[in-house]
Amino acid sequence: MSNWNRREWMTGVAGAAVVGAGSEIVEAGPEAGESKSTDTECALALKDFQPRSMLKVKETRVPRSRFPVIDFHTHLTFVRRGEDGSLRAKAEITPEQALKVMDAKNVAAMVNLTGGYGPALEEALNVWQKPHPKRFPVFAEPWFSRIQEANYSQILADEIEKAAKAGAKGVKVLKTLGLFLRERGKEGPLVAVDDPRFDPMWEVAGAYNLPVAIHTSDPLAFFLPTDRFNERQEELSAHPDWSFYGDFPPDQELQEARLRVMKRHPKTTFVGLHIAVAEDLDFVSKCLDECPNMFVEMGARVGELGRQPRRSKRFFEENQDRILFGTDAVPNGYETPQQIFGEELYEIYYRFLETDDEYFDYAPAEIPPQGRWRIYGVDLDESILKKVYYDNAARLLGWDPLDA
Ligand SMILES: [Zn+2]
Repeated sequence: MSNWNRREWMTGVAGAAVVGAGSEIVEAGPEAGESKSTDTECALALKDFQPRSMLKVKETRVPRSRFPVIDFHTHLTFVRRGEDGSLRAKAEITPEQALKVMDAKNVAAMVNLTGGYGPALEEALNVWQKPHPKRFPVFAEPWFSRIQEANYSQILADEIEKAAKAGAKGVKVLKTLGLFLRERGKEGPLVAVDDPRFDPMWEVAGAYNLPVAIHTSDPLAFFLPTDRFNERQEELSAHPDWSFYGDFPPDQELQEARLRVMKRHPKTTFVGLHIAVAEDLDFVSKCLDECPNMFVEMGARVGELGRQPRRSKRFFEENQDRILFGTDAVPNGYETPQQIFGEELYEIYYRFLETDDEYFDYAPAEIPPQGRWRIYGVDLDESILKKVYYDNAARLLGWDPLDA
């Protein structure tokens, strides 16, 4: 199994929880309280439960997308400290390795969202975007770690202006804002998504036509206790640090704060990554209605969209000009070039968007990484497919990689 999307998708069998059915399911009977033999026979560890579907249904393989694709959500580099302490753009693979996968999968361009800041951004631009301007647009990130410096607000805005002048194509905001960034380093309270210190930065992004790709909050289940009712029980048990239950603002508060930011800066375009809140498409539709400057992107949410195929299809139809294709691909440096992003990654997205296949896996893992369900294709019309795959991103970026 490949390692793509490992931060969001991977779940380890070792960390999976054991929920014994026998302890909960006791049939009431004359000797209630004494469990019957059938109950104990059902006490199968959850991680060992691997049911195979008996449905005889159509299975379509979609090795290439019907139209060229701009993958708006990838992480080709991350900011890391080099051995000498300098900020570097760390990559697991070379542009050439990525290009091979892209050509095989009909991916015209990959947007590298985590281009970083300062010298790391410079390196990301030099290694990825400049030699391949049609294939790897690079986004800049706010320099959050300078929060304790005087004039922080101006520093952020100035750095984004510098990034725009250096050629960055957009701004990426990690969920750091709202869930990790604190006053006074690690000690203080969380900084709100709509903190006014970011206002000059949002304005600069708008002035330079840099779309702001913003990840706010996380799956709704991450804000609930990791108990037997949690639909992402196994995922959270494998990654306890992904839980935001307890000392964190609730999802709704984070969403409302982002909505206020988008309304306060109407000349800046914002892209709600991961469909903003993929479990609640009514809410996302409402946000899109209220904010003409908002787009959404679908990375790592094919599992959510695909388990509500009728609502999703309507969502794609109603918002066809403002949805971007994205995968949240994280390259894996440990496997062969063909497997860098997982051969299956793109095929699953294409199958979901292009076919009406039923009840198929949304990730190539023994245990579904996000939750124990399967998905259904939405079989989008060609005109919508084209927009979602390519046209919307090209228009938003003011940039057409296929235009010679
Ligand atoms: Zn991502």
